[in-house]
Amino acid sequence: MSSQLSPHDLALKATCSAKRPHLKAVDNERAARDIASSALKGLKNAAKALSVDIETFHAAKMYGDPLAKGFIASAAHYAHFLILDPYNQLRSQLEKYRRNDKTLSKRMDEMRLAITLLGDSLQSLIDRGATVKKFDVYPPEGGSQVPTACPFELLHRLLCDSPVMREALATGTDTETLLSLEFRKVFRPYLGGIQERSPAGCPNMVFATIHRSPKAVQVVFGGNEVAWPNVETCPEIWAITKAARDYQLSAYIPIAQQAFNALERRELFRMRERKDDINELNQKAILFQERTDAIKWLRQHPTHLGPKSLSQRGLAMRPPTWQRRPPCYLCEAMMSWGPVYDFYKDKETWKSNIVRFSWEKRGGRPHCCAEAIVRLQCMNLNLKAGLSMNK
Ligand SMILES: [Zn+2]
Repeated sequence: MSSQLSPHDLALKATCSAKRPHLKAVDNERAARDIASSALKGLKNAAKALSVDIETFHAAKMYGDPLAKGFIASAAHYAHFLILDPYNQLRSQLEKYRRNDKTLSKRMDEMRLAITLLGDSLQSLIDRGATVKKFDVYPPEGGSQVPTACPFELLHRLLCDSPVMREALATGTDTETLLSLEFRKVFRPYLGGIQERSPAGCPNMVFATIHRSPKAVQVVFGGNEVAWPNVETCPEIWAITKAARDYQLSAYIPIAQQAFNALERRELFRMRERKDDINELNQKAILFQERTDAIKWLRQHPTHLGPKSLSQRGLAMRPPTWQRRPPCYLCEAMMSWGPVYDFYKDKETWKSNIVRFSWEKRGGRPHCCAEAIVRLQCMNLNLKAGLSMNK
C-alpha cells in the first residue's frame, strides 16, 4: 500500500472553511436556566483555557516558527466563532431572565469577566504581532480558511519543537524525553505560574512519540477530539470542531478503517464461534483472551498501521493533569508503539482497560483517539524521508 502513496496523498489537511455555530433559540425560562448552568459555564472555562494558552504562547517567544501562525489563526477562530459568538447569542436570549434569577445573573457576570480577559489576551496577540512584525491577527470571516486543529494542540506541537524539548531530546533517552512530558514537566519554563486550566475547548487525551528518520529526530504530538464539557446544550459547537478534525484526518480515515474493520470482523467471528462456551461468569475473561490474541494477529496483518517496531515508543496522557494513561484496546491493536512504562504490570487494570472498549460506543469511527493524529504525522514524515509509510 505504501508504495502507491505519496506524501501529497497522505498530507494532513491543515485548513478548512470556517463555520459559525447557530444556536437554537431558547423559548422558555426552564431551558434558559439549563443553558445558564451548563453552556455558560463551559464557554467560560473554554475562554479561560484559551487565555492561558495565549499566555503560554507569549512565554515561549517562538513567534517566527511556522506553527506559530497556525496557533494564532486557530486561537482567533476559537475566540471569535466558537466562544464569543455563541456567548453573544446566549446572552441576548438570556438577558430578559437575569433580573429574577440571581444564579443566572452571577453566571453571566462570571462569563463577562472571562470574555474580557480573553479579549485582553487577543489584544496582546495583536500588539505582539505589530511589535515583532512576524504575524498579523485577523478575525476570521465565515467561509475563510481556518486551522483544522485546536489552539491547545497547535500550541503543544509548537512547544514540542521548543529549545527545552530539543535539549531533552539531545540529552535523554526516548523514554526519558517522553516521560518529561508527563505533567508538562519539560514545558515548565514556558508555563510560568499558570498551571490551572479546565479541560474545555481542547482534547482530554494527548499522545506523543519520537520520530526518527535519516533527516531529523522530533517529538510528534496530537490530541483526541476537542471536548466541550458543559456545552452539550450547544451541539453545533461540538459538531464544528469534530468536522474540522475529521477533515484534517481525511487521508488517514480510509486506511485506518481497513484495520478497524478487520479487527471488528475477527472479534465477531471468534465470539460467534465460541458462543456455546460463553456464560455470564467467563464472558469478560474470554473477551480479554480473544482481544489479546487479536492484538498479536493484527500486528502481522497487512492493514496494521505501524510503527513496525516496538522500539518506537509512545505515551498517552490525560489533560489537564497530564497523567500517563494506557492506550485503548483499538490503538493497542491497530498501532504498535512500545510503552514507556509497564502498563501491563497491574494485570487487573490492564484487563479492564482492554475489555472496556466498546465497538458500539465507538460508532464505526477509527480515528477518535489522539494516536490517530500522531500516526498520520509519522506516516507523512516516513514518506517524506523516502521510507515505508508504516515503518
Ligand atoms: Zn485509542
